[in-house]
Amino acid sequence: MQIGRVTVDSVLDGYMAIGREIEYPDMAASRWEPWVHLLGNDGKDVVNQLGGYLVRSDDYVALIDTGFGPSKVENWHAGELLNSLAALGITPEDITDVFFTHLHFDHIGWASVDGKPVFPHANYRCHVRDWEHFVSVGHAERIEESGFPDEMSAENKLRPIEHLLKTWPGTGEILPGLSAWATPGHSPGTTVIRLDSEGESALFIGDVAHHQAELCEPDWQGVADDDVALARQSRQAVAQSLAETGIPFVAAHFRDFEWGNVIADGSKFGWAQVQETVESK
Ligand SMILES: [Zn+2]
Ligand SMILES: [Zn+2]
Repeated sequence: MQIGRVTVDSVLDGYMAIGREIEYPDMAASRWEPWVHLLGNDGKDVVNQLGGYLVRSDDYVALIDTGFGPSKVENWHAGELLNSLAALGITPEDITDVFFTHLHFDHIGWASVDGKPVFPHANYRCHVRDWEHFVSVGHAERIEESGFPDEMSAENKLRPIEHLLKTWPGTGEILPGLSAWATPGHSPGTTVIRLDSEGESALFIGDVAHHQAELCEPDWQGVADDDVALARQSRQAVAQSLAETGIPFVAAHFRDFEWGNVIADGSKFGWAQVQETVESK
């Protein structure tokens, strides 16, 4: 996707398919009908893509989120991010900036490996509130409860990059044409990244929504939000803004990293695909 003078590519790390009734436990089957074409496994599963987005301008080579990482965990099919970057002609040393939309384990997986930064020349950037929430006070126990290896904890993934860390305090410009929009709820520091170049724009909404239905229909609620009420408020603000501005956007986990537009539709919203960027696995 070309946004002005900036090139955006999805960078696949893998995928995780989960039963739709597990990711959205309150939703009756009939509510899925308008959205079933955006599910996998014959409409049974939400297919969460894993990975990030490469954003290349004259000034920077940025990676937004780093995927699940190389750890082997049942049902999580990942570990391809560096191969996907190589296919785009990018080595880890080329990355000048890593942005985290938030610090959940499936976004920081390639921050470091074996205690060493994967992107040694990059500034690693996140909202200060997520750093405090996930790293400063430690959340290793949460990872252990999930049955994931300890190597995937925020502490173990992010301490090794602390000397490369630059946090942002809230909403505002971070690099020329790349700005943060604080959208808390999914986590305290969850941020939408906005790209502007030569009059064109794009939004990277991270985990503000995990599926198009969750973004477009106000009463949908997934299982992963830290503060449910606040997450819903942020999600609605993002959907409203996308509908009003017509800005194309991508999310962290939409199947195939599909680009879309949000369309106003009475009391809810619709979704229209803009461009497909990778093949589904
Ligand atoms: Zn998340
Ligand atoms: Zn996520």
